[in-house]
Amino acid sequence: GTRANHPAWWRPQFPVPALDAHKYRRGHAVVISGGIAGTGAARLAARGALRAGAGLVTVASPPAALAVNAAQLTAVMVRPVDGADGLAAFLEDSRINALVIGPAAGVGPATRRMVETAAGRQRALVLDADALSSFAGDAEGLRGIAGAMGRSGVILTPHEGEFARIFKDQSDVVNAPSKLERARAAAAATGAVIVLKGPDTVIAAPDGRAAINENGTPWLATAGAGDVLAGIAAGLLAQAMPPFLAACAAVWLHAAAGERVGPGLIAEDLPEALPAVLRDLL
Ligand code: AMP
Ligand code: MG
Repeated sequence: GTRANHPAWWRPQFPVPALDAHKYRRGHAVVISGGIAGTGAARLAARGALRAGAGLVTVASPPAALAVNAAQLTAVMVRPVDGADGLAAFLEDSRINALVIGPAAGVGPATRRMVETAAGRQRALVLDADALSSFAGDAEGLRGIAGAMGRSGVILTPHEGEFARIFKDQSDVVNAPSKLERARAAAAATGAVIVLKGPDTVIAAPDGRAAINENGTPWLATAGAGDVLAGIAAGLLAQAMPPFLAACAAVWLHAAAGERVGPGLIAEDLPEALPAVLRDLL
C-alpha cells in the first residue's frame, strides 16, 4: 500500500548502537569521490553517512584528488582508489558494507564500471547523480545491477531530470499517471528501491510498497542537498537497515534537518542538523 512517510513506520528498525558496540559493528560506508574538480559532493555524502550513524566512513578518491580530499576531512577517512580495478581491490575488505556512487563521479563508462564492480561484490549501493546518468536510456542495465546484488539492496536517488534520462525509452514508466505510479513502475522495472526526489519525494520498492514524503522545505533546493541524502541512505544501509526502510528514513531525516535549519540553509548544514533531529526521534 501507499502512505505518508511517517517515522512510526520505520522507527522500530532504525539502527541504534548496542551497549557493547564498536565502530566496525556499526557499519562502514564508502563514498566514491570525483576527480580533482569535483570532490565536495563526496565529502557532503560522507558527512551524511557518518551523522546517520555509520561507524566508519571512507572517501575513496582518485589518486590525483587524494590531497584535496585529505585536506578537507577529519573523522571521515580517505583512501586512494584508482578506477574500477582499484575499487575491486579495495572491496577485498569484507567489512565495507555500503557504497555511494555518483555525486560528481562523471558520466560515462568509467563510472558504470565502478557501479558494476561494486554490485558484483554484493555491497549495498546508493546510486545517485552521475551514476544514474551513466545509465541513460538503459534501465535494463540498472536491472542487471540490482540482479547482481543478491540480498543486498540498491537505492536509486534520481531527481526528475535524472529519472527522465534513465527511463526515456520506457514509456510505461515515464507515462505512468502520477509521480507515485512512475516511481512504482521504475522500481518494478529495475528491481531497485527508487527515491524520486522533489518537493513531494516518492519512495517505492520493487514489491509495490511506496510512501510519499510530506516534511521538508523548499530551502532544500540548494546545491549539494541531494548528495547529503545519498550519504544518509548509505549510512543506514551500512548499519543493515532494510533498503526500503532505509530510504524512507533517509528522506524523512534529510527533510527534517532541512526544516530545522530553514532560511539560509546550505548543504553543509544538513549533516550537522541531524543529531538534534535524531535526539527528538530516538
Ligand atoms: P538534488 O536535486 O540531487 O540536488 O537533490 C535535492 C534535494 O532537495 C532532494 O532531496 C529534494 O527532494 C530536495 N528538494 C529540492 N527541492 C525541494 C522543494 N522545493 N521542497 C522540498 N524538498 C526539495
Ligand atoms: Mg543531485
